[in-house]
Amino acid sequence: MIQCKFCKIIRGESDAEVLFKNQSAIAILDINPIHYGHVLVMPQRHRATLVEVPDEELLDLIKATKVVSRAIVKSLNPPGYNVFSNNGKAAGQSVFHFHFHITPRYDDDNIRFVLKLKKYGGDDMAVYAKRIREQIQSSPVHELS
Ligand SMILES: [Zn+2]
Repeated sequence: MIQCKFCKIIRGESDAEVLFKNQSAIAILDINPIHYGHVLVMPQRHRATLVEVPDEELLDLIKATKVVSRAIVKSLNPPGYNVFSNNGKAAGQSVFHFHFHITPRYDDDNIRFVLKLKKYGGDDMAVYAKRIREQIQSSPVHELS
């Protein structure tokens, strides 16, 4: 049995405000919201990061994300919302069961990444594109299963 706090919720061993389920995804309220109405949408089977989610489950996941996003917009009327995911500790992932965050956003709510944007120098942009493109072309992962 996987000791994962999201798996415990999915198994019914921990309480959560469940908002929506489809065949392979579930959406719950985040207990420590960025803004009230902040939702987590995750696969019902334990998958650590995005790349481990099978394509069939991803379709359910993104559909659930759209259903809940629409409901947040219609029910809470925020002027904007973010959909994002953190993959890996360095990216801020704290529960290693993949999830999309959906959070309402408000004007001047002062929530932002602190960004120091870089510029590519010389051929670097082409080099990075080539490395990633070659990996995509050598891998069957991008093909729909
Ligand atoms: Zn889990």
